[in-house]
Amino acid sequence: MFESLPKLPNDPILGLSIAFRDDPNPEKVDLGVGVYRDASGNTPVMAAVHEAEAQLLKAEITKAYTAPAGYPGANEAVQELAFGPEHPALAAGRVASVQTPGGCGALRLAAELIQRARKGARVWVSTPTWANHVPLLGSAGLELKEYPYYDFERHALDFDGMMAALAQVPAGDLVLLHAACHNPCGADLTEAQWRQVTELASERGFVPFIDMAYQGFGEGLDADAFGPRWMAEQLPEVLVAVSFSKNFGLYRERAGALAVVGADSARAEAVQSQLLSVARGLYSMPPAHGSALVAGIWASNELRQRWQSELSEMRGRIQTLREALVGSLAATVPGQDFGFIARERGMFSFLGLTEAQVGQLKDRYSIYMTDNSRINVAGLNLDKVDYVSRAIAEVLR
Ligand code: PMP
Repeated sequence: MFESLPKLPNDPILGLSIAFRDDPNPEKVDLGVGVYRDASGNTPVMAAVHEAEAQLLKAEITKAYTAPAGYPGANEAVQELAFGPEHPALAAGRVASVQTPGGCGALRLAAELIQRARKGARVWVSTPTWANHVPLLGSAGLELKEYPYYDFERHALDFDGMMAALAQVPAGDLVLLHAACHNPCGADLTEAQWRQVTELASERGFVPFIDMAYQGFGEGLDADAFGPRWMAEQLPEVLVAVSFSKNFGLYRERAGALAVVGADSARAEAVQSQLLSVARGLYSMPPAHGSALVAGIWASNELRQRWQSELSEMRGRIQTLREALVGSLAATVPGQDFGFIARERGMFSFLGLTEAQVGQLKDRYSIYMTDNSRINVAGLNLDKVDYVSRAIAEVLR
């Protein structure tokens, strides 16, 4: 049976983590894998999550199956977080939502739902986009096409190129957008640009499919959700894949959700029933633990405030590191402008180095990042910034 299956090479990011772990250099810096790190280099359980977990453990009296759409209260939390409590689409009953195994589960569930609605539908993804979008959507049978997004020369969003490509997208196709903190480039749409893309979607009839994996890591919980909120108000149909891995630090619990905005409440109801049926054929029902924590935090004013302040601290730390790196690079590489790093948002930015230079950073300085020079800014530390920027200066020499 399995003779036709060759052994596949290891995942490159996994390989990077192993090489980092085994590197004896005390100066080593891991800018590879995409998890948030605090100043001690740890990815701690958030205090609000810890508290919600303690409360849950005390109150939990069963591990019997929960509702097929997920833990009670979690979908209300998702809807309010993603759209804001007063959103007209919520008031009109236009939003279907289910909990999913992480953001990946949401993306895959969305792909299967789209397959049911229109087999082999085309999804346009940004160049570049998160590498895992390709198997998550492509393996479901959707056809992937690309639209220009990041201009590697200018280190900025290529909005004109993006709009020109989207102006050719036929009605009924889907366009995958990153709500905020674009992975891997960190360049986001402004509110004005979201409005323009929305107008184009309305004119052309393409359907926005928004990946929101970093809400709260960019400008704030509300600002980062401007795109999905505006689009859900202006357009008949929008899909939003939500992840709680980063903003609640729930990575391994696999907590996320898919929200689908339909043209009216009857459509949303039909979609809700289809979502449950698709999920049943994939994994039956979502994990409950992470969703229960999100629901618990959302339901308590005190925990919600604590979570929000922890989240702003994380966001602030990333921004401080971005600015510190730019400041340090201005001194070590005076001939080159790295200001874009401070303008970009979320955990990632491209340094703009060649693969050979990335290799030198690893071999000579034990600084680890993916071959395309994408760095996880949260992997830095204020006391490592000068070391990293001097090393970058050396390999650019
Ligand atoms: N979308 C993007 C752009 C991501 O970067 C990630 C996490 N790396 C996800 C979705 C989903 O993450 P998870 O399944 O861990 O929630």
